[in-house]
Amino acid sequence: MAVTKIWAKTWVAIACLAAGVSAADPVTERGFAHSAEGQDLAQHAIARVNRLLTDQGPRLRPAWVDVVGAPSDAVPVFLVEGAPGALLTPAAVPSGCKCVFVTPSVLRDWVRRNSAGQGRMELDASHFLVFVLLHEVGHLRSGTTGAIYRDGAMSQLNVEPSRAKAAEEDADEFAADVLARRARQPIANDDSISANWVLIELTKLSWNMQAFRTLDEFGAFSVGKPSVFFDDGYSHPNLAWRILRVNDRIHGSRDTRDLLEAFEEARRRGADPQPLYRKN
Ligand SMILES: [Zn+2]
Repeated sequence: MAVTKIWAKTWVAIACLAAGVSAADPVTERGFAHSAEGQDLAQHAIARVNRLLTDQGPRLRPAWVDVVGAPSDAVPVFLVEGAPGALLTPAAVPSGCKCVFVTPSVLRDWVRRNSAGQGRMELDASHFLVFVLLHEVGHLRSGTTGAIYRDGAMSQLNVEPSRAKAAEEDADEFAADVLARRARQPIANDDSISANWVLIELTKLSWNMQAFRTLDEFGAFSVGKPSVFFDDGYSHPNLAWRILRVNDRIHGSRDTRDLLEAFEEARRRGADPQPLYRKN
């Protein structure tokens, strides 16, 4: 009986290989489906990331198409769709897989949501995705994962918060340093222009988040309103704080430092709220 089962499994594996299908698909075995959305956008972003990385591998490759000249050890990027209504981020390195999951529908909604509102600038998903993928390369280099993916959703179980936050900050720093170095290289070329486009995108995002805090949430700064300044419970630290931190690491100016310190100051106020009424 056992021999029959082993033979059956072996036969399935042979049949899959013959059909060009991997027996262990990291997408479907985590309960996700392959997505056909955003293939051109992602392929373009992957190509730009690989050029920006130069000798700081690993390189990435789109999993849905063969790219001529792609290194054999390039890390596959999968376009995925999760379970309906599942909590997901635009991209992550799932635990247990040397690969990257990009969820195009989440990326599209995220960009739309962060572009909408009074005083906002229209964000560009392609440039933003370059930053996101560089961040994921930071995870791959240090062997950390962004999330545990199972049953088509992102699980926060077994993610120790302080270690997860340190891993996110480390991945952000890697992405920021690659962009800063490439944007300021002595001889300008397509790659330095590409890096500068991403820096502009991060500045726009920082602006939009500032508009949210000051226009939509007027008054939140004075009291450090937790829903505006605190982490949202997911292992990734507050995105607004991360973007301010990345911008400060890249530009290192008095202005970027002031913005970061003002945000952190508001968070401290929120963590130690003053009573609204004096006790008699
Ligand atoms: Zn991450």
